[in-house]
This record gives sequence, structure tokens and C-alpha cells, in this order.
Amino acid sequence: MRCYDRPSPNFDERKDGAKPELIVVHYTAMASAQAALDRLTDPAARVSAHYLIDEKGNIYQMVDEDKRAWHAGISSWDGKDDVNSRSIGIEISNRNGDPYTKEQQFSLALLCKDIMFRHGIRPENIIGHSDVAPDRKQDPGQHFPWEKLSRHGIGVYPKPSAADRFNAAADADSPEKLKELLSAAGYGVDAFGKDMPTLKELVTAFQRHYEQDAFKDSAKTTGIATEDTVAMLRALKRLRQPPPPAC
Ligand SMILES: [Zn+2]
Repeated sequence: MRCYDRPSPNFDERKDGAKPELIVVHYTAMASAQAALDRLTDPAARVSAHYLIDEKGNIYQMVDEDKRAWHAGISSWDGKDDVNSRSIGIEISNRNGDPYTKEQQFSLALLCKDIMFRHGIRPENIIGHSDVAPDRKQDPGQHFPWEKLSRHGIGVYPKPSAADRFNAAADADSPEKLKELLSAAGYGVDAFGKDMPTLKELVTAFQRHYEQDAFKDSAKTTGIATEDTVAMLRALKRLRQPPPPAC
């Protein structure tokens, strides 16, 4: 693994003094890392990211972390839009959500740890592009190893408790309850004005991150919440909003 500088002109200042508090992971969906680097540094393309990781795990820095890279587009997380102003964007060279190489996973883990340490970013604030733009984006896709990375403190993947599973089927059938839980997990349920994502788009984005078997288990349906979906959402809510101490 080596690190290179490939400066991109595609950046501006973070708005209102915002600081990085999120890491947003992407796949490039291009034929090669070189093609992606060419595009992300082309002034006419008006897109960029702070980093790109190629298939061999080499890391390329395109935009200084102090600056606002242009990777997330119209997006929302935790009730706030302009994700670009408050995030670091990492592109991973990958065609369309194919399995990621071991070298990429290793480099991504090292890079995330380094960024988290320097900016005080919490594990639950490492998310995917599809999490912040569920109606438009699918990356980093359902093959991204969220569960595995969470074991190294990168992202979170809580284990639902018995209480999380209690009566979960009823909530899975309630659009209001699902939206409340998705919102507590960070998703922009009411964001984007009239282009608000549908419940199906939100659940699909959630499944790409936390319930990837929904894309290969024929007993589950993509975009349709089950009791497993609700149990995981409740576990996430507990993790993100711990109840106050008893005394
Ligand atoms: Zn993306």
C-alpha cells in the first residue's frame, strides 16, 4: 500500500465553519481507478472526493481535509443537509458493488481510523452514500463489508436484543413507526422537499447497510421491512440515543 497526492481543483470551503463529523464511503462505478481519478480531478466534471482507494489498496488524496469536496450531492443525515460541508468522502474503485479486495478493506480501515482519530469522528458516523441519498444512490452497495469493519470499530452493526425483537412485526407493518425509527437512525425521512424519498427507497438503503441478506434471501423482499429490519433499527436507536442514567 502506498499513498499519493493527486490534487483536484473540485472543492470549496466548508459552509458556516462546519467541521468533518461524518465519513461517507462510495464506490466509483468506473472501469478503473485511473479513469475515476481522471474524472475526479477534471475541472469540467465538478465532482471530487478527499480520497480514492484503488484495487491494490493504494490511497490517493485529492482534496485537503479542511476543504469541502464534492462527493455527496443532494443529501441529508441526522436532520441536516449539505453533507459535503460536514464530511470526508472516500471513493473505493469498484465497478458496481462487486466484492471489495482485501487490500482495499485493509487500507480503508487504516484510513478511517486515522481520520476518526484526527477529527474525533464517532464509529456510528461512518456511513454510505446511499444512506445520505437513498432516492438517488446505491453505493457502496450491498457487498460492502459493514459488519466486518464494525468489528474493527469502523461503523456500527449492533446486535438486536430480545427487547428489540419484541412485537417487531407490528412496527414493520406501520409506515409511521418505520419512518420514526429510520429518522432516529439518521436517515433523511423528511428531507429533500417534494423529492422526499419513498419509504421503500429508505428501507432499501437501510438494507444495503444493515440487512444485506435482503438482496440474496428469497424469503425477504428488497425494500420491504420485516421484524429483523425493525429489531436492527431499534438496536441502532438505542446505540445512537442511549437512555439517560437511572439516577
Ligand atoms: Zn457515491
